[in-house]
Amino acid sequence: MPEIVNDVHSKLNEAEVEEVLEPDSLAGVQAAVASARERERPLAVCGGRHAMGGQQFCAGGVLLDTRAVSRVLGLDDEGGTIEVEAGIQWPELYAYLSAPENGGGAWAFAQKQTGADRLTLGGAISANVHGRALTLPPIVADIESLVLVDASGEPRTCSRSVEPELFSLAVGGYGLFGVVYSVTLRLVPRRKVERVVVVRSIEGLIAAFDERVRSGFLYGDFQFATDPGSDDFLSKGVFSCYRPAPDDAPMPAGQRALSLDDWKGLLYLAHANKSEAFARYAAHYLATSGQIYHSDGHQMGEYIDDYHVELDRLLGAPHPATEMISELYVPRERLGEFVADVAAEFRRTDVDVIYGTIRLIERDEETFLPWARDRFACIIFNLHTEHTAEGLGRSDEAFRYLIDAASSRGGSYFLTYHRWATKEQLLRSYPQFPEFLAKKREYDPEERFQSDWYRHYRELLA
Ligand SMILES: Cc1cc2nc3c(=O)[nH]c(=O)nc-3n(C[C@H](O)[C@H](O)[C@H](O)COP(=O)(O)OP(=O)(O)OC[C@H]3O[C@@H](n4cnc5c(N)ncnc54)[C@H](O)[C@@H]3O)c2cc1C
Repeated sequence: MPEIVNDVHSKLNEAEVEEVLEPDSLAGVQAAVASARERERPLAVCGGRHAMGGQQFCAGGVLLDTRAVSRVLGLDDEGGTIEVEAGIQWPELYAYLSAPENGGGAWAFAQKQTGADRLTLGGAISANVHGRALTLPPIVADIESLVLVDASGEPRTCSRSVEPELFSLAVGGYGLFGVVYSVTLRLVPRRKVERVVVVRSIEGLIAAFDERVRSGFLYGDFQFATDPGSDDFLSKGVFSCYRPAPDDAPMPAGQRALSLDDWKGLLYLAHANKSEAFARYAAHYLATSGQIYHSDGHQMGEYIDDYHVELDRLLGAPHPATEMISELYVPRERLGEFVADVAAEFRRTDVDVIYGTIRLIERDEETFLPWARDRFACIIFNLHTEHTAEGLGRSDEAFRYLIDAASSRGGSYFLTYHRWATKEQLLRSYPQFPEFLAKKREYDPEERFQSDWYRHYRELLA
């Protein structure tokens, strides 16, 4: 049955698909691929539907929703790896690893995305995501191997030693090389960490990050102020980092945490009174300095589905709106000038920043289409985007400006968000993109795996 689908956060990627298939096993995934092949239909693959450039949908095609393919296949207690079906989402993996019958929390994942949990491992692999670790490359480094159902419906194991090229293409390959059926993830020993928070200026931020790393901190980020009317705009932030704590450090029940209602209040203020939002957020974070977390637990962050519908009502918005995200990368030593230029431009053009953060990434030397080409600073902007021609045009322009500001400094941007980059911008950050498309056709000559995102770039580069 035809169905209208859309992404969760921006809601800007509506597509009518011919049908949605929801297999719950390897055989089911194979049957879905075989059926699309027999009927000569394009097939798109989705997980949590959080990507924002139409990577997970193909208008008029078949949609394979992987979320029911979500079992844990095996935990290797000795080696510290876990094999899971790729439709599993982080809360289920977290619960499994924490359960007393599975070792009671001896092992943890090293990193996951922040700000949302109901994302699948398949989605994480296909975008090659990262979290707020201070010294890690993207998640490819945590992947031991994959089982990929290819365009002929056959399962193929790939890793650094078996079919290494396919491995490098599938990780960060946006579902264009097959359906990731399962993944063997490298785990790390679960440990306790202490959150240490200061509110500080962006000046000298990289040196401050370096100092944290030298002192053994494992995770951290800098969440900046977003009120363009304030001197603090993009330049003052909540710098919160996490260092190892003793195994017997107490974690009392009732540690301070934001409730869902607190989050909703902050989201409202982030739109209506940005300085107040920052003041409250900073006060909350400062009050949690010294609290103890598990190394995986502090990475969890509930996402409120459809929060913007209620916000639009509260704000009396004349048109529906959502937020659109972008992530930019710049050489660390150029972070200060990049942010100063962005602040001036966003003030000039009245860009509405709702939320933003700065993190670090280590270089990815393993995937075919790496975004972490170097040891970059990562700057994330969540922009309010009204769903009108003018609102979309403004966000489109702001994001293109950001891409230029990053790439002119030797940086790059993340492909998992919008697809508003120009051809020149795409090729500047991803010069191997035409070869990536050629490899796609080599592995999938009938172009069984397609998406609106793929079709856009195929056309752009034709
Ligand atoms: C609020 C929010 C916060 C975010 N935070 C971060 C962050 O901190 N760090 C970060 O790196 N990213 C972040 N992202 C981006 C997000 O991690 C990626 O877009 C990710 O791919 C989404 O996973 P998903 O399960 O929702 O996949 P979907 O959006 O459904 O799909 C994404 C891509 O993965 C492919 N795919 C999914 N499952 C499979 C499979 N089993 N086999 C083959 N292909 C598959 C799809 O075809 C598509 O190309 C965030 C996004 C949002 C909206």
